Amino acid sequence: MNLPDPTTPLNGIANARLPAWLLPAGWPLQAGEPVTADLHFDAGKITSVTPYQPEQNNFWNTHGALALPGLIEPHAHLDKTFTIARSRPSKPGLLAAIETLHQDRQHWTADDLRQRARKGLTWAAANGVTRLRTHIDWFDVVPPLAWSELADMEQPGITLERVALVPLSFFADTDAADRIARAVAHSGKHCLLGGFIHSSNWDPAAMTHLMQSASRWQLSLDLHIDEELSPLAHGLSWLAHYLSHNKFNGHIFCSHGCALSSSSEQQAQDVLRLLSAQRVTLIALPMTNLLLQDAVTGRTPRQRGITLLKEAQAAGIPLLLGCDNVQDAFCPAGSYDPLDTLSCALFALQLDNVFDRQSRLICDVAALTGDAHSGMPLAPGADASLVLFPGSDSMTWPLQSAARVVIHHGRLTHKRTWNQELSHES
Ligand SMILES: [Zn+2]
Repeated sequence: MNLPDPTTPLNGIANARLPAWLLPAGWPLQAGEPVTADLHFDAGKITSVTPYQPEQNNFWNTHGALALPGLIEPHAHLDKTFTIARSRPSKPGLLAAIETLHQDRQHWTADDLRQRARKGLTWAAANGVTRLRTHIDWFDVVPPLAWSELADMEQPGITLERVALVPLSFFADTDAADRIARAVAHSGKHCLLGGFIHSSNWDPAAMTHLMQSASRWQLSLDLHIDEELSPLAHGLSWLAHYLSHNKFNGHIFCSHGCALSSSSEQQAQDVLRLLSAQRVTLIALPMTNLLLQDAVTGRTPRQRGITLLKEAQAAGIPLLLGCDNVQDAFCPAGSYDPLDTLSCALFALQLDNVFDRQSRLICDVAALTGDAHSGMPLAPGADASLVLFPGSDSMTWPLQSAARVVIHHGRLTHKRTWNQELSHES
């Protein structure tokens, strides 16, 4: 594969293998697989997507490389990331990691926050991420330093969203709840309200105030909810019933939802049905859930700790996968590569048809915006932003797929290839 010149905008790409979920009905198949596509670009937008015509174009030929729209990282923690070297938790599990986070905060100067967040954004962009949502911990009813420091961090090619991650107890007081929501609403575009909802801090009155303050300030919500395996976790079930009786203006994202796997089949189906009716997006975080749930020193975990993704898919719930913590007290590893998250999910959740169906879990824009009517990525009129995987095939992907070519608005912005990956053409 000869790579195009990054300084010249492309007029299109030829012979790219797109996943089946992205292609219009009636797209031709060959040996059961979608035929490759030609994508025409104009001024950084896609103008058409048509089956590959070998003789009829002079576009950059990708020789059948797998291609996806710009990737989504829907759940990160740029304020905590890359702190593991200086702050290791003394015990496994979520609550010990939270304790370690509070000890590490003494180092969170503006420079420290920006340098670590910049590294995360740079890695994500090189991996093909075009939208990244970071949660930022609040330790008071006023925004923390990280909230403002990350506000103006720009990474070419990435739209950055911020979620105020606020302990539920802060919403117990209605004035405080309103003050927090107002501060988020006045923080500009791409800001959401969030909260940490867990059986250890459960308070239905505070939940009601959280919902009401978000609604009053026209905010969307992204909640850390039921990040545990206790059958006593109330969050998702409370939320599902609240939404079936109360109007909510924004979109709601529920991150984690592990406790669903501890409820009975019937209880879980009831919750999923109600969440589906409200178009709530569920964000599963397999890496940190596998690390933090059922974690006891010296004992092999018996439970997987992941939400009911297949049942949620069957219920029609919009879904995404996120990396969650990267190289901090919650998760010592991580790469800001959504393919690593999907690889983990492949085994943890026993996914099949990973490229043609499940790749949607890392690039479904409608699930991230909450707008069911937003068009398909890579449809005519959409940004000409995509990621190519030279050397991968649909059976192997997302494993052995570190090689990348990232196209942003019709122009090559990142490449990571090596000879072995390119030799499949010869
Ligand atoms: Zn998180």
